[in-house]
Amino acid sequence: MNRSDSKTAAHKASNIQMVDLKGQYLRIKEQIDGAILEAVEETRFIKGPAVGKFECELAGYLDGSFALGVANGTDALQIAMMSLGVGPGDEVITTAFTFIATAEAAALLGAVPVFADIDPETFNIDPVTVEELITPKTKAIVPVHLFGQPADIEPILEIAERHNIPVIEDNAQAVGAEYRGRRTGFIGDMGTLSFFPSKNLGCYGDGGAITTNDESLYEAARKVANHGGKKKYHNEIVGVNSRLDTIQAAVLSVKLAHLDDYTRRRQQAADRYDDLLSGMDHITVPVRDRRCTHVFHQYTIRVSKDLPGGRSGLSQALSERAIPHAVYYPVPLHQLPVFADGHAPCRFNDLSNTDRAASEVLSLPMHTELTQEQQERVAESIDAHIRSLQ
Ligand SMILES: *Cc1c(COP(=O)(O)O)cnc(C)c1O
Repeated sequence: MNRSDSKTAAHKASNIQMVDLKGQYLRIKEQIDGAILEAVEETRFIKGPAVGKFECELAGYLDGSFALGVANGTDALQIAMMSLGVGPGDEVITTAFTFIATAEAAALLGAVPVFADIDPETFNIDPVTVEELITPKTKAIVPVHLFGQPADIEPILEIAERHNIPVIEDNAQAVGAEYRGRRTGFIGDMGTLSFFPSKNLGCYGDGGAITTNDESLYEAARKVANHGGKKKYHNEIVGVNSRLDTIQAAVLSVKLAHLDDYTRRRQQAADRYDDLLSGMDHITVPVRDRRCTHVFHQYTIRVSKDLPGGRSGLSQALSERAIPHAVYYPVPLHQLPVFADGHAPCRFNDLSNTDRAASEVLSLPMHTELTQEQQERVAESIDAHIRSLQ
């Protein structure tokens, strides 16, 4: 055993983690260290050659035309919306069962987030409720491919086309996923990615990207992200400063080459969880849309309210057994203080599926290094809790 193998083995024997970035790093340490060192020695920290290289590789991987690196996934959403002209008084239809960033970007631009309800099985935005919310003010529709499973985007595109409204895919959690054989991010008018370390394609800091097949939207986004100008000292509009830095791009190029393997590992882990958990009372395993591939950013179960103590009882039992777990998301966006206390306006009709999901979901450890033995311990802990109540 060489030194790096023994380090990996020692690391694996340690406790189960929600996300195991260290274990993942150790397997590709030499490649990563080399790429970072090369970027440092080149000292072109901003707009170095690694950035353009990664943008090309990313667009190629996702079967699309253009990718633009930006500073993070939240910026990607804001810049995409700015490129489409979203501004004060406009409305942006999205889901309330997501991370705050999706709606925050719209609110920051003075637009009103309008929340559609979700499909209770997939947790993704429900196209039927999207159409009910369209008004002459609707400037964009932003489906989120939540937990790694594509939203039902075909009917959304059909509705959007009929009303002439652009669609931005919030693809932060689903890089590499497919809807009817097409990679997400290039199905709508624009897509946004986050390379936050724990995302399926994570860098070693902050990073994000915008994807599009539309050259004019790509050029618009490039301008917005570059202080509102394409040339230095020729600023045409009010923009922002948002860049993917060279070191992060170098890390991402290395990791992109492993993404198929990472996705396969997540899917294998999800299949193992399905086998271990499917028969358990009070637990519902993730529902998979057969038209899509699911890249399992999260493995999220539902805990039935019929279980005595409910989700919080199970959560406490798991904590006592040192099994990491998390609730994504405990508070749907319309109930967060920023919107509920009136700091920013939002609009919605019935969000009962959203509210129910927020009260029942529980995400289990999911990452590329998860072992069968670790997953058995997770499942046994859940099973032991349920049995203890019978
Ligand atoms: C992570 C995430 C974002 C924000 O990405 P950052 O890089 O953290 O800014 C946006 N939307 C969704 C759905 C996310 O999961």
